[in-house]
Amino acid sequence: MAKDTKTAEYPVIWLQGAGCTGCSVSILNSVSPSISNVLIDEVVPGKHVSMRFHATIMAGSGEVALKVLPDTKKELTGKYILIVEGAIPTADNGVYCELGDKTLLEVFKDMAKDALAVIAIGQCAAFGGIPAAEPNPTGCKGVMHVLKHNNIKVPVINVPGCPVHPDWFVGTVASIMLGGLDIEVDDLARPKLFYGGLIHENCPRRPDFDKGKFAEKIGDEGCLYELGCKGPYTSADCPERQFNSGINWCIKNGSPCHGCVEPEFPDKFSPLYKKIKVKE
Ligand code: SF4
Ligand code: SF4
Repeated sequence: MAKDTKTAEYPVIWLQGAGCTGCSVSILNSVSPSISNVLIDEVVPGKHVSMRFHATIMAGSGEVALKVLPDTKKELTGKYILIVEGAIPTADNGVYCELGDKTLLEVFKDMAKDALAVIAIGQCAAFGGIPAAEPNPTGCKGVMHVLKHNNIKVPVINVPGCPVHPDWFVGTVASIMLGGLDIEVDDLARPKLFYGGLIHENCPRRPDFDKGKFAEKIGDEGCLYELGCKGPYTSADCPERQFNSGINWCIKNGSPCHGCVEPEFPDKFSPLYKKIKVKE
């Protein structure tokens, strides 16, 4: 779709912290819309994402690329969306993750202060994730924790997942473009549109759970609860949406849900393949 002069631009700065870049990879594989639609065309009619900084996909590098950050802050104060992928290392003043000659912690705080909103993409940015697992030597934290600790007030939307589903990200951005920041979120700041229902309620193996038919080992038919499934404690639309363009998802593939969209993942949901008592 060609952009015309009436197209509204949504400038985006995407920072990457402690993580595996899996959420970027997941989003780059978005099918409908495709990633080229997201980055080049209009995500919704008349609205265009202007990706100004993303270390994995941008052509620029070095000082030229880094200059985009202060330039955006200066030119577009209060108008850009700051997306964070990965946890933020906070131990020893954040020295364990750097961007140019600054720590990510420093850059994040600086950019968050003047952003329109912050979107935490993936489990690590939302809640700390695997980088924050015990013993967490780098002091990794999620976005909201760092903002609260530094008394920075900016709207935050959490879009967790390990990795995030491309639809959860694109759908959240499209919702903001259409209706502004006032989208319906739960008490963990996750859009209810995607995180509104328990996996356990919509699971195709739920009839087995109700009948008491439980798998004893991976590969067995039956409910995966005895093998550590965290579906009863996890809210996401994986059963209906599925991954890889609706082809498959964890439980359909025979793996218990590990609760990758919840703040309890991974420490409080471990051991992942054992039944544990949580949230009861
Ligand atoms: S496999 Fe998991 S989500 Fe599905 S019914 Fe069993 S416990 Fe619930
Ligand atoms: S089924 Fe569970 S572990 Fe798998 S993607 Fe969904 S929330 Fe994450």
